[in-house]
Amino acid sequence: MHEGQRNRVMQLPPQLDEKFKQLLSRYPVKRSALIPMMVYAQDEFGYLGDEILDEIATRLDLQKVQVEETLAYYSMLRRKPAGRYHIQVCTNISCMLRGGNELYAHVQKRLGIGNREVSESGTFSLEEVECMGACTGAPAIQVNYDFHENLDPDKVDAILEQLEAGKVPKPVPVISGALHERNKDEVVVISKRFGIPDAKKIDAYLKNDGYKALKKALTQMTPDAIIEEVKKSNLRGRGGAGFPTGMKWAFIPKDSPKPKYVLCNADESEPGTSKDRPLMELDPHQLIEGMVIAGRAIGSHQGYIYIRGEYRYLLDIMDVALAEAYAKNFVGKNIQGAGFDFEISTHTGAGAYECGEESALMESLEGKRGYPRIKPPFPATVGLYGCPTVINNAETLSTIPAIINGGGEWYAGLGVPKNGGTRLYSISGHVNKPGIYELPLGYPLRKLIYDVAGGMRNGKKLKAVIPGGSSCPLLSAEEIDVPMDYDSVAKIGSMLGSGGTVIMDEDTCMVDMARRIMHFYAHESCGWCIPCREGTTWLRKMLDRFHEGAGREEDIPLIDELSKNMLGRTFCALGDAAALPTISIVKKWRNEFEEHLSGKCRHKAADDVLAVAH
Ligand code: SF4
Repeated sequence: MHEGQRNRVMQLPPQLDEKFKQLLSRYPVKRSALIPMMVYAQDEFGYLGDEILDEIATRLDLQKVQVEETLAYYSMLRRKPAGRYHIQVCTNISCMLRGGNELYAHVQKRLGIGNREVSESGTFSLEEVECMGACTGAPAIQVNYDFHENLDPDKVDAILEQLEAGKVPKPVPVISGALHERNKDEVVVISKRFGIPDAKKIDAYLKNDGYKALKKALTQMTPDAIIEEVKKSNLRGRGGAGFPTGMKWAFIPKDSPKPKYVLCNADESEPGTSKDRPLMELDPHQLIEGMVIAGRAIGSHQGYIYIRGEYRYLLDIMDVALAEAYAKNFVGKNIQGAGFDFEISTHTGAGAYECGEESALMESLEGKRGYPRIKPPFPATVGLYGCPTVINNAETLSTIPAIINGGGEWYAGLGVPKNGGTRLYSISGHVNKPGIYELPLGYPLRKLIYDVAGGMRNGKKLKAVIPGGSSCPLLSAEEIDVPMDYDSVAKIGSMLGSGGTVIMDEDTCMVDMARRIMHFYAHESCGWCIPCREGTTWLRKMLDRFHEGAGREEDIPLIDELSKNMLGRTFCALGDAAALPTISIVKKWRNEFEEHLSGKCRHKAADDVLAVAH
């Protein structure tokens, strides 16, 4: 049936109708447009009512039930109206450490509504949310899609007052902690344009080495030579797993008759991690350039940038940058006259941590629930739409232009053996200077905390460190003399992970930390496998009970045992991600669990001291 002849369920506003048409042109399979269509429709109407879901189903040749079952998976999609201003307060680890819980309690009281409730006037709705990627600006809230960071109750009151008066307060101009005076030890490679005025615009990018690497890759290098250069660089995936990027690219079969895809995983949602956000916000063309080079290397002609739903403003920034890159023929047909075609589209998620897992991301990109796929087969052979696919983290792809410009050996030499180059750390928690810093692989963790991040806040003692996002086993203060590279951190039983380094001081209650981490994984478990679904739920309940002072002595080994029973018994790594930090906390801070048996909580004790001091 011709598009124009189809029976329409409802008349859409012209710009939404146009958006839907654009979305349909982006994918070889219509259903892929489902989640972005729902996001844009929700932006327009405030929620997803029956009529718009019928309309979307009709446009995508789906049954409404297929649309609804997909919708139900994504936490940002709503079937009921929210308030005109939807206030989302993060209480995940980095925000929690800097007063996120107290802020959430304050907002509840101030608005007189609870979680997922709407004020009587319809002006406000409130939601306690998981990590939204503002870790270096904790504690943070989002008003609709706007980020407000480094808050306290007075600052939140000022925001709410403006909203009540019908004014929209200015969000943070840039993620907090990205623009700062450089530390002398920083080696700026991928963050070198941070702070250059208008660096996100193509003219500024071109003036500052932009698209030089692409020209070189198109005119002076064969696809094999590009892969060899990336192999030489010892670049390892910056999303968390640390797999060698050049090797991943080399796995793509050369003789496949199917299309090949390059996917950028910009679904950054590991609690404690906010380092892909500035890369897209401040230097989107660097990522685009990296993707086109990746496409040339593996013989792909189509890339997608999957951006987490909470980073809605980045979707717009990336779309503008892509339009500029198309206009100057750095993306599109016959790029720079070199006979190579490569198209890129953005794609929005809608709130699901699990979609950061590569196969779940592909399911989501195909318009389905973000359930992981059983591997093998691996994406290199059976990926998006069953075709060979390379999927790399946004930071990994942003690094490619520098490697092509400077050479693989140069890049490898910036780091340590088998761990090439630099990486971005988002450091949050109890440090004086939370922020995003670029440092060579192998940089000492102690210096990262005490020199780069300015040391411990209020002169407190260090208690614990999450080296690279909430899924990593925690390190104690005695374990920080470790070089931050994948192999050294693994040797002491943890992981370099996503570069989200979270610092905890002596007043942190480790039972509370274990509880909050488990809440997150129980919330994000897709429920497919029993050890993860049941394990995270039981553990969440036990840790809640423990933290409330109702734990039993026998619960301590049970928490440990339940966590160990999840290890290696789940389809994807989320089960391990929930278990590993918990096991490490029980092992290293067992005394705090024991103290809770007699009603003592270090965090509460610290609060009491503060209360007395004031
Ligand atoms: Fe889903 Fe958890 Fe199983 Fe992963 S481990 S597939 S998140 S149930």
